[in-house]
Amino acid sequence: MIKTIDISKTFKIKYKVIKAVDDVSFEIERNTAGALVGPNGAGKTTVIKMLSTLIIPSSGDAIVNGYSITREEKKVRESIGLVTVSERLFYYRLTALENLVFFASLQNLSLSDARRRAREVLEIVGLSEWENIPYMKFSTGMQRKLALARALITDPPVLLLDEPTLGLDPLSARMFRDLVRRIGRDKTILLTSHYMKDIEELAEKIILLKKGKVIAEGNKENLKNYLGKVIEVEVNEYPLALGKYVVETSTNYYILRIPEKELDGLKDYRVIKEEEPSLEDVYIFLIGD
Ligand code: ADP
Ligand code: MG
Repeated sequence: MIKTIDISKTFKIKYKVIKAVDDVSFEIERNTAGALVGPNGAGKTTVIKMLSTLIIPSSGDAIVNGYSITREEKKVRESIGLVTVSERLFYYRLTALENLVFFASLQNLSLSDARRRAREVLEIVGLSEWENIPYMKFSTGMQRKLALARALITDPPVLLLDEPTLGLDPLSARMFRDLVRRIGRDKTILLTSHYMKDIEELAEKIILLKKGKVIAEGNKENLKNYLGKVIEVEVNEYPLALGKYVVETSTNYYILRIPEKELDGLKDYRVIKEEEPSLEDVYIFLIGD
């Protein structure tokens, strides 16, 4: 289980104060997956960093696997596996196996246990064949799998995945999602992503963040029902505020994909079709500027 309770984080740079996370409360039930969704700068990474005890909240608290991130940091750290996108995650010249044995040995495992566990997690993520290849020869997709393997060394009940498919080609991203789904059956997962595909396929609960605040949350159905139908219309002009709904521009007309409840913002339109909303439609309605 992951639960945040009015958690906030303020950064001060010189005289500027940034409320990166502003009184955020949400809950991800045990053995389910939730996603933090929102534009760049929304505060997603800051939430993940607080949950993984890398930074301390300015106020509020969170419970991860039953432990408080402010009072039981050590227990929280033992409960989580963290995957982030960063250049310096592994030793470039060491092989996949050597890297994992190194990180496993930091977990108080004997060398033989560390080696056994490293091989197990390589198997889980499908990298066994590549165990003797130096990290620097790995593709981005393989690097991400290795990062996941590392997060799994202690078989933690909670996985925190910050933009796990960032920079992956569509096929690698799909394979990574399948992997997360398979591993995630008996884990509580919180991921962040810009890709609606990740969210559609992985998240049972969605938390939309904008400027550090939760602006909507629910499962896919709740959010889609909330939006209602979307209509594709052809128009000759549209008010600037509806620009986020433009899906096609031609020399003398525009196609807008617009929620039914926003239609009265248009003066003249010709309906092309009416559809159930996608999560992307929800995102654009709530977040797009
Ligand atoms: P996201 O992951 O959703 O893109 P972040 O959590 O990285 O957003 O950032 C939220 C806000 O906090 C941004 O305005 C960012 O510039 C700011 N921020 C994040 N980390 C720091 C930091 N260490 N110092 C100052 N500002 C930061
Ligand atoms: Mg981020």
